[in-house]
Formats: sequence, C-alpha cells, structure tokens
Amino acid sequence: MPENTHDALKEISQDIRQEFEKKRRLLSFEEYLSLFASAPINQCRGTARYALDMIEHYGKTPLQKSKFGSDNREESIYRFHVFNEPIDGTAPKLIGHENVQTEIYQKLKTSAQQGGSNKLILLHGPNGSAKTTLVHGLMGGLERYSKEDEGALYTFNWIFPVERFTKGGIGLKGYEALPENLISFSKLNDDEIAAKIPCELKDHPLLLIPPAQRKEYLATILPKEALEETWERLPVSLREGDLCHRCQQIFESILIANGGDYRNVLRHIQVSRFFLTRRYRRGLVTVEPQMHVDAQYRQVTLDKSMSSLPPSLQSLSFFSLGGDLVDANRGVIEYSDLLKRPIDSFKYLLGVCESGSVNIGSSIAYLDIVLLGSTNEVQLDAFKEFPDFSSFKARIELVRVPYLLAVSQEREIYAPLLSQVKGEKHIAPHVDWAAALWAVLTRLKKPNSINYPPSVSSIISSLSPLDKAKLYDQEEMPENLSPEERKTLRSNIYRLRNEYSNIPMYEGRMGASVREMKNTLFDAAHNPEFPCLSPLAVFRELSNLVRRTSEYDFLRQDIKDGYHDAEDFIDTVRAEYLDVIDREVRDSMGLYETTQWEEFMKKYIHHVSHSLKKEKIKNPTTGRTEDPDRQLIQEFEMIVEAPQNEKDLAAFRQNMISQVGAWSLDHPESEVIYGKVFPDFWKKLERHFYESQKSVMTKMHSALVLSGNGADKEKEKRSDDFQLAHRTLKNLDEKFGYCSECGTEVINFLIKNRY
Ligand SMILES: [Zn+2]
Ligand SMILES: [Zn+2]
Repeated sequence: MPENTHDALKEISQDIRQEFEKKRRLLSFEEYLSLFASAPINQCRGTARYALDMIEHYGKTPLQKSKFGSDNREESIYRFHVFNEPIDGTAPKLIGHENVQTEIYQKLKTSAQQGGSNKLILLHGPNGSAKTTLVHGLMGGLERYSKEDEGALYTFNWIFPVERFTKGGIGLKGYEALPENLISFSKLNDDEIAAKIPCELKDHPLLLIPPAQRKEYLATILPKEALEETWERLPVSLREGDLCHRCQQIFESILIANGGDYRNVLRHIQVSRFFLTRRYRRGLVTVEPQMHVDAQYRQVTLDKSMSSLPPSLQSLSFFSLGGDLVDANRGVIEYSDLLKRPIDSFKYLLGVCESGSVNIGSSIAYLDIVLLGSTNEVQLDAFKEFPDFSSFKARIELVRVPYLLAVSQEREIYAPLLSQVKGEKHIAPHVDWAAALWAVLTRLKKPNSINYPPSVSSIISSLSPLDKAKLYDQEEMPENLSPEERKTLRSNIYRLRNEYSNIPMYEGRMGASVREMKNTLFDAAHNPEFPCLSPLAVFRELSNLVRRTSEYDFLRQDIKDGYHDAEDFIDTVRAEYLDVIDREVRDSMGLYETTQWEEFMKKYIHHVSHSLKKEKIKNPTTGRTEDPDRQLIQEFEMIVEAPQNEKDLAAFRQNMISQVGAWSLDHPESEVIYGKVFPDFWKKLERHFYESQKSVMTKMHSALVLSGNGADKEKEKRSDDFQLAHRTLKNLDEKFGYCSECGTEVINFLIKNRY
C-alpha cells in the first residue's frame, strides 16, 4: 500500500472515530448532569422551543418591506433558510410562502413561551399548495439540527451488567463489591452488559429526577433570576411528567432492592444522545389518513437479554409501547390530510394537546410533540359544519397555505420538471414563465374599489389581471400612470395583497394548481407537433385544459371584468410573449438599440431645457455654440405624441424637465436613466422604431421561409436577407438559447401574429 494511501486511511479512520465519539456520546447520569449544568437552557428545551431554535439556527432573511408591508405598517416577514435546502433528496426546496413560514414560526414561538406545544398547527389550503413541502422542510431541518452540537438531544437506557460485576448473579444488591471507580454502568462494553433496555418514549433524562424534586434540583444549577422563567417555559412533560410505565417499574424495583438508595438506581442509567430521523420514524413521523392507531401497548414476551434480568424485574409485566405518538415523542408528528379520517379517530388528539399526555392501557404517557396536520379547503369547510368544531377550534391553530401569486416564484417550481424534460427535448426560452403567468392569472381576484381610499379607488378598479400579476411579482406599475398615481398605488400594495386575506374565499384558494400546471407542461413536452417544448406547445395544452370545465371549479367561476377568464388569459400571455420575442428577434437582427432611445431622450431634455432658457448649446464636435436643435425636439414630440397647442406643449416640456430634476434628487449618486423616468415614452419610442423596421423584418422572414423550402440554394445564399436570417438564428441561439427549430418557430410566430 503506498505511503500516502495509508496515511489517508489513517486520517479517515481517525475522523470516523472522532465523529463516532462526538455523536455516540454515552454518559453516566452524573456526567449528563454536569453537561446539563453547563448548558441548562439548551437542555431544558421542550420540543416547540427546540424547533424554534432550529429555525433560528439556520438563519433568516427579512423580506424587503415594500414587498409585503406598506410604509406605515410595521410587519416583519422572513424567509427562513431551513426551507432552502432539499431534505434527503426527497422534498424540494420550498419556494415562496414567506408569510406562511413566518406564521408557523410565530405559532411555535407562542407555543414555546407558553410551555410546550398545546395546539395542533393545521395547514390548510387548496390541493397542491405547498403544505407537505413545508412540513418536510421543518422535519428535514430538525433531522439536521439534531446532528449538530447545538441540537444534541439525550435520552437514556437502563444497563444491567453481567454477573462478575455483582456478586453472584446479576442481582440488584452487592454494589459494595464493585471497583471504587465504577460508579456507573454506563461505560461498560457490550460483552459486560447483560441487558440494555432503552426508554421507548426517548424520554428526557431530567425525568429521572422525580417530579417533586425536579424544580429544587434546577434551583441548584440555574441562576435565581432564570429559574422561574425556565421553569415556566418547560413543557408539561418536563415540569410534571413522570417516567413511562416501563421505566417506572424498573426504577422502583431497583430502588426497592437497594433499600431506597436513589444513587444505585442512577448507576444503571446510561444517558445517550439520539438523532431525529424521518426514515426510521425516530421523532419525525408522518401519518397517512388510512392509518389511525396512534399509540398502543402490547405485552412482550421477554427476549433472551430480558431473561437475564434480576428475578424481581422479570416478574414484572413488561409492556412495550408502540405507535405513532410514541415514535414521534420529542419531535414532530404530521397528520397528512387530517380531516380525511373519521372525526372520532382523532378526537383524542384534543386531549393530547390539552394535557400533554395520552392514556396507554392503564398508564399515562407524557408526550412532548409538535403536532402538525394538513387539510384541503373542501374538507376544512365540511369540518367547520361539524357540531364539535368549536371544541376543536380551541386546540387548533389554522395556518393558511394559498397558491403562489408571484410569477417568478411559480416558475421556479417548474424547474425540476423542466430539467427532467431536458434530456428528451430542447426547451425553448420562456416556457416556465408562460405557464407560470397563466397559472397566476387564474388565481387572482378583482380588487373591490370600496375597500380602498377614494384617492386610489379609480386606479384600483382599472387594474387588469395582468396589471395585478405584474404588481405582485416585481411591483411593476401599469402603463400610463402619472408619477403621483404610481406613488399612491405603490403605497397601497400591502392593502391589495391583503384585501381578501380574512375571508374564506381568499385570493390563492382558487385557480390552476401546481399539479395541473406540471401535467400541462408534461403533455406539452410530449406533443410531437412541436419540435421543442416551447410556449406555443404550452398554449396548445392550455387551450385543451380550459375546455375541461366539468373537472375544474376554477374554470366555472363567473367572469368579472376580465378576472377568472381562463381562456382569455391564454391570449393575454400570448400577447405578452409576443412583446418579449419581438425584442429578442430584433436584438438578434441587430435592430434593437435601446441605447439609441436613451440617447434620444437625453438629447431632447438637453435641447429643450436650453431652448426654454433661451440659451445656446455648445456643439461637442465643433466646439461652437449653436441654437438648440429644433428638428430633434419636434421629432421627439411627434413620436411621443406630445400635445399640439402651445400652452399644453409648454406645460408638457416643463413637466418633463421637472421630472428629471425630481429623479436626480431621489438618486443623487446615479446618472439619470431616462428609460426609468419616462417608461411610457420609452415604450412609444420602441413602438416607433419597430414600425420603421417592419420591412426588414418581413424580408428576413421571407428569406427564412425560402431557405426552409429548399429554394435555389446558391442564389439564395448570396442574398443579404438570407445572410440576415442566418445571423438572426445564430444570435437567437447564442444570446437567448433558441435552437434552430424553436428559433425558426418563434420568428414565424412573431411575423404571422404581428407583421
Ligand atoms: Zn421510559
Ligand atoms: Zn429548440
């Protein structure tokens, strides 16, 4: 074996050992107490607090206030990083839903402050909103956190040593004969252990201190000021809870055998670190609706190791606990589709929430579990009609998980699907965007102007679904609003987002689901008529989808001022798409020169302001002073359709100059970006130039069609139009990622629909 391989192996083996030592730390009860004393707050955590600390541990980013709150409304919404990372490769990253994340965080916080999780957090929303992803994000975070130093969790085992440690048989007496240093059996090797019995509930080692003495004990290690607060924050199971039935039996029989010497009981305790895992259902349990036995007990036949136990213990009936709640103790249990099961089958959960314990057979098991559930809206509505709903309501925290309303977030959701398709077919640009925009449009509700201050009500009532979608996503303002109107609208975005948040038919409850959109994309990808998965293929599938009105509620909603018009939304998206590809095709033809327009606006302002001040302008090339360029001024004003009569024109000019001034004041560090100050004029310039380029476009297209038809090759190749067509396709590929097939498709579609 080469030297370096040998060293490398040695190093690896050392690493593994260190890791092993660090993770598999086995402690005597005394050692645990000193660990406890060194970090009492960490070790005193109930599960709600633990989950909360976990979320904090992975960090959070506050969202831009303007995005969610308005200027006069203080509200902190966070993106919690724990949801950013996929969990054991099975759950995807949670996209968006910062409101929901923050709400869950707040609920856990309240629960932790009140000493434990005494309410079930029920996530509700339409089918296919991200409820499961949220829960799995939390579980994945807990799983990772339990492996870190800050998240170390401990429970305990009972250790019974082999005979040679006790005089004659594995009796419970005779400790006087033990070696002096063996105050605990916790560190014995496997071959020195006759029986090892874990606590099935993974109970906290603190429970080994009897409830009556527990607070007293904490007083010896916590500073006086911290004691009361820590005590109040402990979950019921740690404040009042006792050992589980089996552990109690073991505890008592050792105690009796040793004449009441508690220290001899502790000698049998091995505190061990444990890790939460979803796969092995250790502290992280998902319960599907068809399974409904949540905790049970059974009498076990004693196995071989048990048969070597002291006779006094053997005679005790040993019960083995089992079931979901038992597995989930000290972690999270998720009841997926909670309300799909008969109500009687989960009524007992109310008791669990209320008392922090559950009856198993004749004994009580104290539990410390964060209870989560999910349900769709239809089931929740039905549940609300149930006569006992009010008693449930007091023990349930409802958290709403709507569909996403931001196009850029929705499209991010499709990314995994698209990368799957990629292997089979080329994916044209904007596919995800087109699908996402349509999906969001189907989910929007028309704002009602009576919910807004009079100053903004007319702007609000004129918002189209597309306007609203753009506002939600990037806070992009509708065209043709004055700067003043923009400002007013901006300060009402918060109100707009929350207009329907307190009613049952909230925004994001109805509409196309992610599942449906994924199916649509998938079908579009497999349509042989389209060489690539392109927006055109998506439009085709959507046209089929909107006809299936009997299958989808959202397709049967009343159309109101363009809202809920799923069929028309296909045209809306198509029109937007045409704008996008128009720019890309022109850019690829070398015709899209936005710097020209920027320059044009800049010159206009320069000349018109000098002309107003009746000043001359220094020509930068000749160095001579000249009159302002009247022709330039007139051309600009003609293109942007400035008013004709003198008085209005003067006001128009003055207004432009003051807007530039205002912009400079707001952005002292930056040079004026005219496209941003005058977005509408920018668009008008764009349109104007488009018009003038029309003939070049159609000529290029004809050449493209000709070459596609295999016309006279040689002659064709010499033509400028052909060269341009060829160059355009090449640029479409290099700049935007169109292959020659979807590149040709997009040019054909553009020319056919616009020129
Ligand atoms: Zn136990
Ligand atoms: Zn393609």
